[in-house]
Amino acid sequence: MSAENSDMTGRVCLVTGANSGIGKATAIELARQGASVVMVCRDRSRGEAAQAEIQARSGSKQVDLLLADLSSQEEIHRLASEFQAKYDRLHVLVNNAGVVNSKRKLTIDGLELTFALNHLGYFLLTNLLLAEIKASGTPERKARIVNVSSEAQAAGVINFGDLQLEKNYGELRAYAQSKLANILFTYELARRLKGTNVTANVLHPGVVRTNFAGDSTGLFGILIKLGRVFEISAEKGARTPVYLASSPEVEGISGQYFSNKKPRKSSRISYDQTAQELLWHESARLTGLEID
Ligand code: NAP
Repeated sequence: MSAENSDMTGRVCLVTGANSGIGKATAIELARQGASVVMVCRDRSRGEAAQAEIQARSGSKQVDLLLADLSSQEEIHRLASEFQAKYDRLHVLVNNAGVVNSKRKLTIDGLELTFALNHLGYFLLTNLLLAEIKASGTPERKARIVNVSSEAQAAGVINFGDLQLEKNYGELRAYAQSKLANILFTYELARRLKGTNVTANVLHPGVVRTNFAGDSTGLFGILIKLGRVFEISAEKGARTPVYLASSPEVEGISGQYFSNKKPRKSSRISYDQTAQELLWHESARLTGLEID
């Protein structure tokens, strides 16, 4: 079976940020491959419009919509409960929703928004749904966690003394920290999942023409806008997340960083196990999860 023709019939796949860009294109392709897709969006009307488009473009009616603002921990808990009330299996979780913010903003929980949404949102949702994910994998066909990061990880530093960037906020600093956090989180998660029927991988989708950084007035936003000439379509940007979500070629592969459907090296610091563990514990503390 080729990567492009994976059979996802009967597989439940949850995709966050599925109303736009890479998330929407990923949802369309997974639905086209036969998966039952659960979209997570924060805005009902944008979500419903995208749901209708995903159904039309994939030719599948198995596209559900759940609403949640993923920058709010209470909403993530509610989302997980709503999902669990409707589904008892989750074969693929694609953590994709992300932002960049020119100005430092706080979430309802009092956390810096970029870190809270781009990293803690992935961390909390994954951990709340882990029992369903573990119950869905088999030795022959493992369940998969797919985290959308960015090559901005290469510029990332985790400011353990100031994770909320209270002292020195910068748009790129905050974004790169959150995208490096995606990688540290995935590597730690994959290690914790060894011996289970679940894999976890992380990826850079390419430089993709989406709504991303559309509101940014900072240097990073300007660089993104200048880079528009090099951008690929959302469909091309979805190729690596779809590959990691469904291709038989990566069955059993875990704890890897991918770009353009190939494993790549991530930044040196991302392989630091002490940093991975420290981030895990800080993330558990900040989300109030009682996990070691
Ligand atoms: P996008 O078109 O702006 O999509 C981002 C998605 O995240 C949207 O569905 C957005 O919903 C959702 N989102 C934002 N804040 C949210 C919140 N508080 N709660 C729930 N959902 C929220 O951008 P994209 O390029 O597809 O980005 C997807 C991922 O790719 C991000 O993680 C980004 O870091 C990564 N990435 C993108 C590029 C690129 O070149 N585009 C490169 C590397 C990595 P709304 O529509 O309601 O805002």
